[in-house]
Amino acid sequence: LRHLARKLRASGPVTVAEYMREALTNPGQGYYTRRGGVGESGDFITSPEISQVFGELTGIWYISEWMAMGKPNTFQLVELGPGRGTLTADILRVFKQLASVLSKCDVSVHLVEVSPKLSKIQAEMLTEGKVQPNPEDKSAYMKGISKTGIPIFWYRDIQDVPPGYSFYLAHEFFDALPIHKFQRTEKGWREVLVDIDPEVPDQLRFVLSPSRTPATQNFIQPEEKRDHVEVCPEAGVIVQRLASRIEKDGGAALVADYGHDGTKTDTFRGFRNHKLHDVLSAPGTADLTADVDFSYLRKMAQGRTATLGPIKQREFLKNMGIDLRLQVLLQNSGDTATREQLLHSYDMLMNPEKMGDCFNFFALLPHHRLVAPDKKDKPESKSLPPPVAGFNELLLK
Ligand code: SAH
Repeated sequence: LRHLARKLRASGPVTVAEYMREALTNPGQGYYTRRGGVGESGDFITSPEISQVFGELTGIWYISEWMAMGKPNTFQLVELGPGRGTLTADILRVFKQLASVLSKCDVSVHLVEVSPKLSKIQAEMLTEGKVQPNPEDKSAYMKGISKTGIPIFWYRDIQDVPPGYSFYLAHEFFDALPIHKFQRTEKGWREVLVDIDPEVPDQLRFVLSPSRTPATQNFIQPEEKRDHVEVCPEAGVIVQRLASRIEKDGGAALVADYGHDGTKTDTFRGFRNHKLHDVLSAPGTADLTADVDFSYLRKMAQGRTATLGPIKQREFLKNMGIDLRLQVLLQNSGDTATREQLLHSYDMLMNPEKMGDCFNFFALLPHHRLVAPDKKDKPESKSLPPPVAGFNELLLK
């Protein structure tokens, strides 16, 4: 707050995006830099922290796509914003269990993480802390070997990840990126800004820009019907990069987050100790988040890849076989407490009132993955490519 107040007094109000970036990822004082409270003992809980089944089914999704795409002999698993590293750990366990299927494939893991605190936790989770900082041979800031023997690299930016056939993963990542907010007024669209309250010392408040800002001109569509709009240009740039990389080098991206398809208005929220927190109070001590606008992500893929979804989490997980997996785990668990825990976490993930309906899955895939091969090229092939698991029922062969 002191840092921001000084800045606001010196140079006037800032955009919500600038405020959010300072509050979350400022290298000295940002929330993710210092606190990064993912998990039960932190500020917010995420699906991979609730149940191992979530990561297992995600791992199956990648294997199923790898098979559908002709089992390339190498791939990179690239996770954006890995939190505590739990999701990647669960996926790597599946890769190990299916080692006979993946046996001839050279797999590496690439984590994009800005938080020094969280990258340390990830290193502990995935490599038991056996990592080498600033490896000379790579653009990565850290590298290690997973407990299952797979090389892992850490980067601050997706652009540092080497090119190559890649499966991307972004779970609760895009909602943490800075948004711009706009309000329709009688005088036209105005951008919402953050300023210091002149009446109350060290208190922040929202104000409207007196005139249009560059962002108002760039981000509001002429046909916009809503009175309040949030736009996350950084998410747009990252999706553009993912789409270009998939178009050029092959692979797929799976994005899972809470969000909407271009319909919601004011979704900017703060969380601290699992409770709602005023977004302008004590910046840097709470997680700030806004719902992901999947219609914007789809637009930003710019036709370079096909897109699927958003589809509700409960439908995606059902298609991936969560019910069957739950039955197996229940049969294998001897004690009542574990069984209760399994049923409770299933309910958290699947119940429409909990995470089942508000979380969505969305995918970027090469166009050829969804289109029947041209008969001229392959006259013997009459069949369509296999359906994409999750968005359709998983076919176990
Ligand atoms: N995927 C995890 C964590 C979600 S929290 C889970 O579902 O449990 C958001 C994650 O994104 C954190 O790891 C945070 O440090 C990271 N992050 C936030 N902004 C980022 C940015 N601009 N670049 C890279 N990582 C970022």
